[in-house]
Amino acid sequence: MPRCIFHLDLDTFFVAVERRLDPTLQGKPVIVSPGTARSVVATASYEARKFGVHSAMPFSQARRLCPQAVVLPGNFPAYHKASCAFFHILEAFSPDIEPASLDEAYIDYTNCRELFGPPLSAAGLIQQQVKNELGLDLSIGISTSKAVSKIASDLAKPVGILYVRPGYETKLLAPLPIRKLMGIGPKSEPQYRAHGIHTIGGLAQLPRSLVARVFGETGRTLQNMARGEDHSPVQGRQPAKSLSHEETFAHDTTDREFLRHALHRLVCELGYRLRRNNLRAQKLCVKVRYADFSLHTRSQSLPRPTNLDGRLFETAVDLWERLAVRRVHIRLLGFVAQDLVKHEQQLSLPDTQGREQQDNLLTAADKLRSRYGYSVVQWASLLRREA
Ligand SMILES: [Mg+2]
Repeated sequence: MPRCIFHLDLDTFFVAVERRLDPTLQGKPVIVSPGTARSVVATASYEARKFGVHSAMPFSQARRLCPQAVVLPGNFPAYHKASCAFFHILEAFSPDIEPASLDEAYIDYTNCRELFGPPLSAAGLIQQQVKNELGLDLSIGISTSKAVSKIASDLAKPVGILYVRPGYETKLLAPLPIRKLMGIGPKSEPQYRAHGIHTIGGLAQLPRSLVARVFGETGRTLQNMARGEDHSPVQGRQPAKSLSHEETFAHDTTDREFLRHALHRLVCELGYRLRRNNLRAQKLCVKVRYADFSLHTRSQSLPRPTNLDGRLFETAVDLWERLAVRRVHIRLLGFVAQDLVKHEQQLSLPDTQGREQQDNLLTAADKLRSRYGYSVVQWASLLRREA
């Protein structure tokens, strides 16, 4: 029996959650973006898209295209909550769920027909339940593979369901522009076009050996997708391999005190996320983007995995001092926790009394934060600068 894979994608997710919180936004062009001169658009409503605004566009450009749009900075706790509720609904329909982002998932429906009927009926049920319980619009693509279902859900938007019956994959794909293929981006699209490949069908038809010679292994994989052949499994939840936090400053700067303070803030926020997810980092990395856009990183493995702000900051400062030798203005600072491992409670070692005290302090702070928001408790050193 051929596989039956759903790709489910909530429509203009951030905007839809904002509209649920504030119904007066209904029907208006809405852009979710930090709204600073150098930020980008996270999501745009369909009303704003009519003016040419799209996600990942520089905010300044979006502003010019649609000056009347309502700009919202984003409410991530609300998005996170809505996302959890969305995944909770999906869990009832299949045990095999692969989250692709906050508002996007694949499910393997192959062995669930007995429970919820043919794919189209099940998709209708899911769509209806998401609308009734969460007030959110959902589009669904269904086919024998992840790659084709992803394209189908995109074609089905908004609030649509597109079922590609087994054997009809290439008929759907052939006339579509090559950029619709997952893995072809703004950089690779011109390379394919330069070789006269404008449609997915165009890529599918080329001899395999030619594609391998010109586009390498990636080209071969993409050609398989173009022919509707994608056997990649729905993989379930993968534990995060790294967590990162970064900040682009409003103005490029060389102010070392300001930068050290920013690093401390990034480290503490990341420490909080690690502890909330019950993870510890075995390796840390500090990254700096200079005003000339060059990116520099330094990383270091830790003697013991940690998620404590103090430990993380010690190493971060160390890395930072080894990195910040150039006297060039800095545009962005980032902190990455890598090689993550699950946090397991340990019996205390003789040298860990200080660590335990900090542990208790952070546990208390984290409890308050999870109830009242991250900024309710801060290290005094971080407050002083802001005062
Ligand atoms: Mg979406």
